[in-house]
Amino acid sequence: MSQPPISHTAATPTAPQAPAPLDAAACATGLSKVYGEGETRVVALDSVCVDFGRGRFTAIMGPSGSGKSTLMHCMAGLDTLSGGSARIGDTELSGLSDRQLTRLRRDKIGFIFQAFNLLPTLTAIENITLPMDIAGRKPDPQWLDLVVQTVGLAGRLQHRPSQLSGGQQQRVAVARALASRPEIIFADEPTGNLDSRSGAEVLGFLRDSVRELGQTVVMVTHDPVAASYSDRVVFLADGRITDELAAPTPEDVLDRMRHLDTERRTP
Ligand code: ADP
Repeated sequence: MSQPPISHTAATPTAPQAPAPLDAAACATGLSKVYGEGETRVVALDSVCVDFGRGRFTAIMGPSGSGKSTLMHCMAGLDTLSGGSARIGDTELSGLSDRQLTRLRRDKIGFIFQAFNLLPTLTAIENITLPMDIAGRKPDPQWLDLVVQTVGLAGRLQHRPSQLSGGQQQRVAVARALASRPEIIFADEPTGNLDSRSGAEVLGFLRDSVRELGQTVVMVTHDPVAASYSDRVVFLADGRITDELAAPTPEDVLDRMRHLDTERRTP
């Protein structure tokens, strides 16, 4: 995910305070992220401005090393910003303490990673409610029921992860992310460990969670087919947003990716 290294020159050091678009669940303005210093300095994000619409499914695509994971990590409060602004709802992330960031992640954000990250000793339903149990919050039973039905896990709730297929385990992770009704869900290559059929199921459930349950999902992927499940694809290249596509088909996405590759080879 983190190669090849790219050297850039500019990064915005200050935090512009533009208002968040009204229908944005999350937005970035002039967001920059710089790693290292001197010869090892890398500008992973260079003044990125983007918003993620509420109740929408957005995919982030781009070549390896283009900054996709860094953008997700900065916008989800998993990494600090070097400059600019990132918001979840009304909350500005820059300037929050580690403790405030932990609380923000716990209360407002759902995560789905490539590795399912389930606890092996807990049943599916215990895994699903674990983040809320830790936060001392009671799940809304009706919502939980709807989530479990949506991801097709009703008959598997008492199973442990080792008794479930990879696709079912990732569906548990999707349900876990949805259970607390977060403001936004960030998914990092959620189908990276799945065969194409299980991957299609998980992507279908993610799309249903947006269309039928009104959730907001932002997904990092390098897979044009996965991206085609989204409502909108934003393309990153060399730490900048270069393009976007509404109602994407896999062919459209592949075509734009080819353009990005050509542009990178012919500066
Ligand atoms: P992608 O997810 O698109 O593959 P990344 O966000 O992982 O890209 O990386 C963007 C750039 O930042 C790459 O050049 C990568 O080498 C660099 N990078 C990412 N994480 C780190 C880090 N922790 N330290 C130094 N450089 C990093």
